[in-house]
Amino acid sequence: MASIVQAEYPTISLRRFDADREQHRQRVREGADAQLLSERRNLQCGLRLSFSAEKTMRPLTRFLFAQENAIPEYDAALCEYIFAANGLLRRAQRPGLEAMIPAAPPTRLLKIVEPCFRLNAPRVPMQLVQMMLNQARRQCIERGEFVEVLFYCCWDDVQGWTLHTPPQAQGVTWVYATDTSANSAYVKALVEVHSHHWMEPRFSPDDDRDEVGFRIYGVLGRIFERPELKMRVSVYGDWWEIPASAAFDLPTEVFERYGK
Ligand SMILES: [Zn+2]
Repeated sequence: MASIVQAEYPTISLRRFDADREQHRQRVREGADAQLLSERRNLQCGLRLSFSAEKTMRPLTRFLFAQENAIPEYDAALCEYIFAANGLLRRAQRPGLEAMIPAAPPTRLLKIVEPCFRLNAPRVPMQLVQMMLNQARRQCIERGEFVEVLFYCCWDDVQGWTLHTPPQAQGVTWVYATDTSANSAYVKALVEVHSHHWMEPRFSPDDDRDEVGFRIYGVLGRIFERPELKMRVSVYGDWWEIPASAAFDLPTEVFERYGK
């Protein structure tokens, strides 16, 4: 289950960095052991830096993002990791040789950061979930055919949660909002749910194509037998499944579908 606690990030003490650097310079000046030229220090975050020579002060390992066509000049004492569109590469240079090759993630140099999500609002009340279920059922019954139905849950500090059934185009295996103007619920929704009527609540390839905003998405399935709600949080098209009960107060007849 996703943690709702923000990860704590390590911090580097620049004061200690400066103190270590000055101490190192002093020892070099005093002609101490030549080993000092390649000495590595463990700073408090565990990040290793090299003070290989007073004139370079280059980091042992440098991390770069290939956001421009030209990659910056090499500037590390040991190697560089470059995050690029085609994956992660590792670059090194020495007299007579340079290379930039595909690489595995440098897990030894990095901290683990747990995925997290936090709903900075109360959970969506069960009355709204019940209203979605009732309406999804009613539309199928009144039309005499199975159609998907789209719902938006909007949140603000004044009105709290409000449920919207936006203007929409519907089919047996698809649904989309037809009003996408700036003030529409399509734009403002914090939670978006669509029904899969009798089908399983699974995110389809079409859902993956459509659900690329920053919000919580849900699919409501098996609405006539055993209503189930499957949820995920999307950060612009990367998804992380969450239990429905993390975002909704569920009526007794609605079950969460999580991890299967
Ligand atoms: Zn769907």
